[in-house]
Amino acid sequence: MTKNKIELLAPAGSFDCIQAAINSGADAIYFGVEQLNMRAKSVSPFLISDIKKIAAVCKANKIKSYITLNTVMYDHDIRLLQNILSEVKRNGIDAVIASDFAVIQHCRQFNIPLHISTQANVSNIEAVQFFSSFADVVVLARELTLKQVSQITKEIERKKIKGVSGKLMKVEIFVHGALCMAISGKCYLSLHTQNASANRGACTQNCRRPYKVTDTETNEELLIDNEYIMSPKDLCTIGVLDEVIKSGACVLKIEGRSKGADYVSVVTKCYREAIDSVKNETYSENKIQHWKKELATVYNRGFWEGYYLGHQLGEWTRNPGSAATEKKIYIGKGSKYYPKIKVAEFTIESGNISKGDTLMLLGTAHGMKKEQIKNLIVNGVQADEAVKGDKITFACATKVSPKDKLYKILKNTNA
Ligand code: SF4
Repeated sequence: MTKNKIELLAPAGSFDCIQAAINSGADAIYFGVEQLNMRAKSVSPFLISDIKKIAAVCKANKIKSYITLNTVMYDHDIRLLQNILSEVKRNGIDAVIASDFAVIQHCRQFNIPLHISTQANVSNIEAVQFFSSFADVVVLARELTLKQVSQITKEIERKKIKGVSGKLMKVEIFVHGALCMAISGKCYLSLHTQNASANRGACTQNCRRPYKVTDTETNEELLIDNEYIMSPKDLCTIGVLDEVIKSGACVLKIEGRSKGADYVSVVTKCYREAIDSVKNETYSENKIQHWKKELATVYNRGFWEGYYLGHQLGEWTRNPGSAATEKKIYIGKGSKYYPKIKVAEFTIESGNISKGDTLMLLGTAHGMKKEQIKNLIVNGVQADEAVKGDKITFACATKVSPKDKLYKILKNTNA
């Protein structure tokens, strides 16, 4: 068992996600800004101007914040990089996650703590030793087995490999989320077909599409057992988390900066409970089955344990999109909250809801919360159903703000 405290690191692509991570027990969050991160194609990315608020929210909630600057950098990116690093330094973001040597060098100049990104593909102790001159944490390549991870962490202790801070180097590994069939993101598919570089955060997910194989001599289409031949299932280590922790990795990272606050909330909560259970020796098969069921409710392509148990080849997904067992349907936005009586008012912009429905509220102040409608008031009158255009009120423990979004949760019968 590792002597280090385990740090649970959650993804955050929005302020809703940051709050969801905090509420669900994350020790740290990681995020990207502008286009210098691996989610550069995100619909509403954080901007440089958001760094101050992100740092403040994380400090107020006593969790760490790490910024990813882990794309391949071009010369024309350097000015933006320097501007971002100035803001990172000014606001006390805890570390930068990077792999490009330009970023590594600039972090030294700014004296900003550095974590080596999985994009650097660190797979052996000598690489850890090399990067210890620049960093304190290395995120190991996702293709390693737990045995290899364990050998690396043992060697760090044996050789007393210390990072810039003077403390022993820490090892971070991914424990949950999407996997690439390309080695730690080194993929040219999007560049080849759409002139969009995955290594600059612009992956267009070509591997996630169905393909046919055609015999060019006969034009015959070959039957393939699974048409998603390049799209691996998602990594899920909740069933082997005791082994993961034994490997000596002490930062456990959840993938998913492009996912919503519901995903961050559910996944972070499950892994928080699992880590605590391993620690207090109550980790059990029953709990694992419960967490697996919970994890399956949010976005996933099916699960496997990745390469950690020594699988040579990926397990391929059978799903075009998510295999989540629940889906959320957008209903409307918050309009008022009456704190004394704990009642929320929403305007329905789409679809309908009925008494008894389970609703999901996403918002910056509370992340993700679920509420069941026990009593429904529609346009001031008690009713069983509400439709587009209606103003609804219902008893709601969560303090609703005007920008909060309301979703109805349904079972996904196609999963
Ligand atoms: S196209 Fe697929 S394999 Fe390539 S970087 Fe994107 S997700 Fe990874």
